[in-house]
Amino acid sequence: MKVPKEFTVAKPVMEQLETAGFEAYFVGGSVRDLLLNKPIHDVDIATSAYPEEVKGIFPRTVDVGIEHGTVLVLHEEDQYEITTFRTESTYQDYRRPDEVTFVRSLEEDLKRRDFTINALAMSQTGEIVDLFSGMKDLESKLIRAVGEASERFNEDALRMMRAVRFASQLGFTIEEETLKAIELNKALLSKISIERVQIEWVKLLLGHDRKLGLVSFIDTGCYEFCPGFADKKEKLQLLCDTASVPFLNEAQAWMLTLCFLEINPGEVKRFLKKWKLSNNLMKRITLILAALNWRLENDWTNEWLFNVGKENASLVEHSMIYFNRPLDVLETEKRYDQLVIKTKQDLAVDGQMLISATGKSAGPWLGEMLNDIQLKVLNGDLSNNEADLLAYASKEC
Ligand code: ATP
Ligand code: MG
Repeated sequence: MKVPKEFTVAKPVMEQLETAGFEAYFVGGSVRDLLLNKPIHDVDIATSAYPEEVKGIFPRTVDVGIEHGTVLVLHEEDQYEITTFRTESTYQDYRRPDEVTFVRSLEEDLKRRDFTINALAMSQTGEIVDLFSGMKDLESKLIRAVGEASERFNEDALRMMRAVRFASQLGFTIEEETLKAIELNKALLSKISIERVQIEWVKLLLGHDRKLGLVSFIDTGCYEFCPGFADKKEKLQLLCDTASVPFLNEAQAWMLTLCFLEINPGEVKRFLKKWKLSNNLMKRITLILAALNWRLENDWTNEWLFNVGKENASLVEHSMIYFNRPLDVLETEKRYDQLVIKTKQDLAVDGQMLISATGKSAGPWLGEMLNDIQLKVLNGDLSNNEADLLAYASKEC
């Protein structure tokens, strides 16, 4: 097995912890992804050293989450999140624990992790610690809770959303007992903060096996406890049956969700607000959804291309595939590139110039005139030079 650079560069840091008499292991997603031969984004290191001890070993550290036992260690060009082995206790309201207890035992730390495939540890020499048969589940492509599934979902209900999103990301099946426990405990999802649910929902949508994740999400009934989904089972099923081409980004994923769920244009903002999306993202989604609805019925116009911009136009064009419609992304981008103006600032005149040329004072006419000129320039009915545009404005006023 070729060990990626992310692990090898961390070796000196692990060695330092070991020299000081502590244990140190790679844990969680990075070990799972390494064994699956998938790209690694960040490595998490777990150690028997307590946070203060970690800080005593490394000269450059940052307290990023010391109450959870995480210290950021800066080493050469890189930084590593090093977390003390811990157990979690006093889960209240089926959410994350409000107390963590630091422990010296790796076993205790692995026990509190959600799924067997996420409860693997690896030493810096490459030795795998597998206390819950995670390797076997990796091979059988199974998502299985560590320990008694129902109990684990009662501790932290988000784990149910994590199960369906891993199904989508990894193309794995949820093991039978774990699946039954999700069906049984699905209602606990309503106790979880929407921000945490949203992160998992978006990861599910962006997964390579979206259909697999969505089918579990629907069949277990998790969808009933997500904002705006309760009465949309059939529509969610349509989303499952879209072409198996991965969604390109979060904005596209939401746009297509809204489209397949047939959320009324007047309801879009309220729907997205319930999911607590940022204002910027909501704005973008609203714009591209309108563009998609246009594009499904019409060809692009210069005005639409100008209004949505190249990146959004390309995203919308890409999305035609989910409606079994022909698409031509290159042609769309080419048409955008050929627009005479790309922004309002590219117009050869502005409001002040129109006021001077017409002798009229500012008023609602000004915005209307600018829009009219902009459209005519975009459509080639006027050429974008100052003299022509001012002459046109003077004539119209
Ligand atoms: P990703 O590739 O999305 O980062 P990941 O498995 O690394 O996947 P993280 O959310 O980064 O997921 O969590 C890191 C590890 O922490 C997990 O692999 C798992 O062992 C543990 N973990 C995270 N969230 C929970 C949870 N809610 N309950 C139990 N263990 C969890
Ligand atoms: Mg991770």
